[in-house]
Amino acid sequence: MSTAREERGRVAKEADRLTAQGVSGVALTMVDTAGITRVKTVPVTALSDAARWGVAMPPVFDLFLADDSVTSGAPSGTPEGDLRLLPDLDRLTPLAAQPGWAWAPADRHDQRGTEYPGCQRLFARRMTERAAERGLALRMGFETEWVVGRDADFSPSPSGPAAGPAFGMARFVELSDYLRDVLDALVAQGVTVQQLHPEYAPGQFEVSVAPADPVGAADLAVLVRETVRAVSARHGLTASFAPVVEAGTVGNGRHLHLSLWQDGRNLCRDGDGPHGMTAVCEAFLAGVLGELPALLALGAPSAASYLRLEPSRWAGAFQCWGPENREAAIRFVAGAPDAVWAANAEIKSFDAAANPYLVVGAVIAAGLAGIDAAATLPPPVVDDPAQVGGQTRLPGSLAEALAHFERSVVLREALGETLFGAVVAVRRAEAARFEGATPQSVVAATRLRY
Ligand code: GLU
Ligand code: MG
Repeated sequence: MSTAREERGRVAKEADRLTAQGVSGVALTMVDTAGITRVKTVPVTALSDAARWGVAMPPVFDLFLADDSVTSGAPSGTPEGDLRLLPDLDRLTPLAAQPGWAWAPADRHDQRGTEYPGCQRLFARRMTERAAERGLALRMGFETEWVVGRDADFSPSPSGPAAGPAFGMARFVELSDYLRDVLDALVAQGVTVQQLHPEYAPGQFEVSVAPADPVGAADLAVLVRETVRAVSARHGLTASFAPVVEAGTVGNGRHLHLSLWQDGRNLCRDGDGPHGMTAVCEAFLAGVLGELPALLALGAPSAASYLRLEPSRWAGAFQCWGPENREAAIRFVAGAPDAVWAANAEIKSFDAAANPYLVVGAVIAAGLAGIDAAATLPPPVVDDPAQVGGQTRLPGSLAEALAHFERSVVLREALGETLFGAVVAVRRAEAARFEGATPQSVVAATRLRY
């Protein structure tokens, strides 16, 4: 335990180091209930004060909708009160595509320094600790997909950027400088990039990064997105991370990869369960699969999410799992026999409107509940679930997912009343806002919000 004086010394050194690197200010981010990343910045000279007392970020932010309107109906829905954003200095990162700026994700405490029960990032940390109490560690990684456009309305046009063939070399060549700058910026920020490639939809790309601890994976989801956004702006491009950019076509997912570890051993392999997973891994995944309809209220939180979550879009629209099955909600990847780290499960149904901290925390909670119940997986689905027959579709609307969420004993207990109440209030308001809206108007309202 370092003393307050030692801590202040450490922060002062960090600030000096940043100043020497030409950094003027630090952006402190939180992701709200609606999935929007909100920010306060401080000059480097004020970093020390920010680290000690935090920066004001009132609880009402938890009740913002994606369009910045504010709903009520939850304990944190009052205009009064204050919370303090406390930067996590272990993650302090100079931003390569925003020269002069650094970034740090933040937790929220109250003015007395007590952890705020509605803080999404602290929730992710609590669930990580809950797993650790059972000797379990999770490695997680989000894939980031986005679509670039040149005009604010993204109107589809054959002359739009990277409109060439899906996964096509032509797209990569066309935006080669841009993609190099995305790669360089991420690498300069210490992000381990695994892959960067053109995706299916016109203008769509994807980057995947190396797995990290759950909070770290959620932090990376924020950093990667904001880096892509900043590099895009420097190239005259607008990046959309919304679930759907054009109604009726493939959308942007933000799949979550996870592996479960105990004493340095990957429990997703070398076991007696299906496809080589251990019984603990099977129970964890069964817990997640069973809870998935409710988890969607966190992982697919927008009305637009359900325009994406359709069969035949690799979005994981069915509540099933399968080895390397891209249409199943959970795709199990056994990996190569000599690559111990490679075995993992990919939850495909989630998108980037989600708050990644809520997602990682809730997935852990569901998985641990599966372990407690010694849950087992149903038989795997190896073909397209839409063709197999008898497979359960995941909720087809936000209202439906919310109804599952409101009944979820596991998620309610894990989130606690403050967070649970905020999610219910915001999802109810988002669902009401888009009730009866055409897909086109849902897309138009959400395309450039995330
Ligand atoms: N874009 C698809 C989605 O919405 C995913 C494509 C892929 O499998 O990478 O989830
Ligand atoms: Mg993809």
